[in-house]
Amino acid sequence: MDFSGSFLESNPLSAVFYNPRVGVAIVNPDLRFLFVNDRFADLMSLSPAALLQRSEGEITAAGDLENSLAMFRQLFSGDILHFSLIKRYQPEAGKAFVVEITATPLKDMDGKTSSALMVIVPLSARDLSFNHPHPQDWYHTALNGSPDTIAITDLNGVILFASSVAAKLFGYPEPRYAVGKSLLSFIVPEDRERALQGVQVILEGGNPAMQEYRGIHADGSVFFFEAHGSVLRDEQGAPQQMIFVLRDVTQRHRVENDRQQRIRELEAINATMVDMTTELDLQRLLEAIVKRVTRLLGALESDVALYDPASRSLRVVAAYPGQENRQPAVIPLGEGIIGKAAQSQKTLLIEDVSLWDASSSPEPAPRTRIAVPLLHKRDLLGVVVVGADPRERRFTTDDLRLIEMFAQSAAIAIQNATLFSEIQRLARLDALTGALNRRSFYDEARREMLRAERYRNPLSLIMLDVDHFKSVNDRFGHLAGDEALKAVVQACMAQVRQADWVGRFGGEEFVVLLPETNLEGALAMAQRLCKSVESLRFPGRDESMCITVSVGVAERTPEMTRVEHLLNAADEALYRAKSRGRNCVSA
Ligand code: GH3
Ligand code: MG
Ligand code: MG
Repeated sequence: MDFSGSFLESNPLSAVFYNPRVGVAIVNPDLRFLFVNDRFADLMSLSPAALLQRSEGEITAAGDLENSLAMFRQLFSGDILHFSLIKRYQPEAGKAFVVEITATPLKDMDGKTSSALMVIVPLSARDLSFNHPHPQDWYHTALNGSPDTIAITDLNGVILFASSVAAKLFGYPEPRYAVGKSLLSFIVPEDRERALQGVQVILEGGNPAMQEYRGIHADGSVFFFEAHGSVLRDEQGAPQQMIFVLRDVTQRHRVENDRQQRIRELEAINATMVDMTTELDLQRLLEAIVKRVTRLLGALESDVALYDPASRSLRVVAAYPGQENRQPAVIPLGEGIIGKAAQSQKTLLIEDVSLWDASSSPEPAPRTRIAVPLLHKRDLLGVVVVGADPRERRFTTDDLRLIEMFAQSAAIAIQNATLFSEIQRLARLDALTGALNRRSFYDEARREMLRAERYRNPLSLIMLDVDHFKSVNDRFGHLAGDEALKAVVQACMAQVRQADWVGRFGGEEFVVLLPETNLEGALAMAQRLCKSVESLRFPGRDESMCITVSVGVAERTPEMTRVEHLLNAADEALYRAKSRGRNCVSA
């Protein structure tokens, strides 16, 4: 087809072709110019002849070339009937022009598309503001590929454009879902006032400090973002739209929250350790352990069981909150979550207890549990088990780590408290015989004196002294003497009741305090003690070795207000027994 001379002059469209306001060109499928009007040549600062030497691709800015070629390809292949595209021409190095081109196929006599008619409209700065008749095209081209989270709104904050990243941030698969909504609707209500104040500052030409807001995702979850806003103005400076560049800082927040959470955990662990290692009363310690671990893990409940190696079983000794019989009182090693954690000496996490162990007693509600062994060195002390409702709380590997740390300090604390109570017990006893030592005996005796007085109960005291003990030592040796003293205490322990107190008062002198016992009862007991000492034998020692005791007995009288009074009375009776020839009882 010939585009020169008569074709154009005779064509009713010639006014368009020569329209000085728009550029017009015709290109062949290789995008060689077949025709250019003066306006287009002017626009490109080239003569029409020079422009005809080039192809459309050669004057297209490199960055827009691929997209543009693709559009033309589709046009010439008949895939599209026309297209409109905003792109940049860059005929020389340096200056680029933004233009909107509209291309329509021109068919030859055979109906084949052999060329395309292009209308080229230069876009002024004004046109480039977002009042463009096809704003989406422009935004799309210029902004959508941006990795930034960009939203453009009108002056009321209604979203005109959202980059695809912005749409995703708001929770929409595509920008078009966000368009038309108020940007404010993506901010949590508490932060909206602050956001509006920021907008006011930028409308007044100010530059507010970068602020952080909480956004609401389409699924209702909260995200954190920073927003930088500016105003797009027309040539007269009147505000037209606002553009916001958002930055998702949720990740930063998450890291910060994790850090805060970690600090809280460490503080809790520290408080727990201080608490626990200073608590030397075992039962109070165990109560503190179950309460602390429940709170530390944000769980519902906890139990602690201590291990008894003799019976190879565990006994639940504390529960929080309250004793709710979640676990059987005694658990054989290897049974249930507690028994299994104890046997394997490993932490067990059971997501759903009912699925794991159908034989266990039915749970009132779904339960997820962690059981962690309490180990001191390699010794099993017990097991702590924590339970939560899986619908509210899922335990993570972090929780496992936390409870294991906790268990380590708990085990140390239990070990300390156990040792301490053992030391305290031992401190009350005479090391050789295991009877109460003199001070502890006094303590108990004082208490019994008061009780007897208050309740007007009888109270009696027996005092025993080994006869001629010096010669026992002399004849059989000091070690044999020690053995004899132990045997005397054992003989007494075997005879007395649970409520009676046996003490070592001096070297070979012993006392037995008998609450709620009158003189008659005490004398009977004294006789029994006398006889049982006499019948003591010492295998492995000299066969002739035997011992006897002289025994004095006294009952408390109302005048006796102090322990010493009762002791003196028994001592005097003992003296009488010695005088009467020893190995006998006197009152
Ligand atoms: P009596 O029948 O008058 O009580 O004669 P006795 O020899 O028992 O009298 P005395 O109180 O003078 O002697 C007590 C002896 O007990 C003196 C001491 O060597 C001995 N003795 C005291 N404590 C112990 C001990 O822990 N082990 C041994 N083996 N001997 C002890
Ligand atoms: Mg003596
Ligand atoms: Mg003696």
